Amino acid sequence: MEKKLICISCPVGCHLIVASTRDRITVKGNQCKRGEIYGKEEMLSPKRIVTAVVKIRKKEYCYIPVKTEKPLLKKYIKPLLKELYRLEVDLPVKCGTVLIKNFENTGINVLITRSMKN
Ligand code: SF4
Repeated sequence: MEKKLICISCPVGCHLIVASTRDRITVKGNQCKRGEIYGKEEMLSPKRIVTAVVKIRKKEYCYIPVKTEKPLLKKYIKPLLKELYRLEVDLPVKCGTVLIKNFENTGINVLITRSMKN
């Protein structure tokens, strides 16, 4: 199987060709080691940083930004967004507060990314 990808590890955006056989994955088109790591990871277990907003309790149409601390496996993104859109946050909150700890035992925390007063 062969995939064409654009490396998103830096702004250069190298065009990668990632090929996998039964026992090996090869990456071409990368200008550095990070591209090889990205290409292999995309083939085996793609991950993304997830950003979203969460509703503030008792404040209509007010939301606070949140994001995952580290990249999350793609298969967990939809369940996480469902959970985030269900939650409500009480003010005041501080930037960096853990909103969800160890989501679905992935080891990934969701953090609030903005301080907000009442
Ligand atoms: S392969 Fe290296 S140089 Fe190319 S986009 Fe990825 S990180 Fe940047």
